[in-house]
Amino acid sequence: MGATIDGKRIAAEYKERLRLLVEERVEKRLSPLCIASILIGDDKGSIFYMNNQSKICTEIGVEYKKIIIDKNTPQDEILEVIDRLNNDSNTHGIIIQLPLPDNLDEEVIVNRISYLKDVDGLTDINAGKFYKGEKCFVPCTSQGIMELIKSTGIDISGKRAVVLGRSIIVGKSIAQLLLNEDATVTICHSKTVNVKDICKEADILISAIGRPKFVKEDFIKDGAVVIDVGFNVVNGKMVGDVDYENAINKASHITPVPGGVGSMTPIMLIKNTCEGLEDEY
Ligand code: NAP
Repeated sequence: MGATIDGKRIAAEYKERLRLLVEERVEKRLSPLCIASILIGDDKGSIFYMNNQSKICTEIGVEYKKIIIDKNTPQDEILEVIDRLNNDSNTHGIIIQLPLPDNLDEEVIVNRISYLKDVDGLTDINAGKFYKGEKCFVPCTSQGIMELIKSTGIDISGKRAVVLGRSIIVGKSIAQLLLNEDATVTICHSKTVNVKDICKEADILISAIGRPKFVKEDFIKDGAVVIDVGFNVVNGKMVGDVDYENAINKASHITPVPGGVGSMTPIMLIKNTCEGLEDEY
């Protein structure tokens, strides 16, 4: 039976390292770090993420400024709010909670954030730099996934990696990070034929499709590292994309849901803010 990758523990260790970094900043009398988080409307999922991010920021010593905007606010006024935050030297990171209400243009709003404060790595400038291998803010979920893979001690170079899902925010970005580490990467999506057979070739298997328990034991090569990004609610319970109870019989290491990837994502957001893109800010 494989080992569970304890995302909660790894996130807690990371959190402590970030707390010390923030303490060092205070000792050097640098300005306190601040993330501005914009919520437009009242999406329940976004409110949950916002409160969770806020709690973790407080524990680390980073200010988390909630900016809540009515869903009927004209887009121009929202862009003015972002401009003000871009120009505010006391704001180091800006995040927009997604999804946005239907009447707003997500591309325009997200891309209004200065790429230097885009700690979620969502703007076109950061995405372009990411795929060109330049210094940038790397999408948080994929950074967290890499930390979990590395925690297993696996040497990624030369391994076969299969990623289920091709969204910008997870599938494509984790595929790129694995490629950067010299894995041989295959991306599967909803039109892929023989997904199971492709998965069975993977030394590292990552599922980010949002389909409860889609990945069964017979998708998994003996000894594979399995990372479950899926976050699905079934009968009021949180369930991953992987059938964990059975898959653990084949995997060498596997993440649970909850307590796996989800624990890492907000920590990586704060890591991005602590590191910044400029040398001193
Ligand atoms: P998404 O934008 O909806 O993308 C889903 C991807 O899965 C698409 O590329 C889709 O293919 C592919 N897909 C769907 N059914 C498939 C199937 N049967 N076989 C193979 N591929 C299939 O979702 P996302 O934003 O990437 O999120 C994916 C999951 O991760 C969700 O459950 C989400 O809640 C979770 N998530 C978790 C975190 C975290 O921090 N834990 C963060 C982000 C997302 P097509 O492109 O062909 O449609």
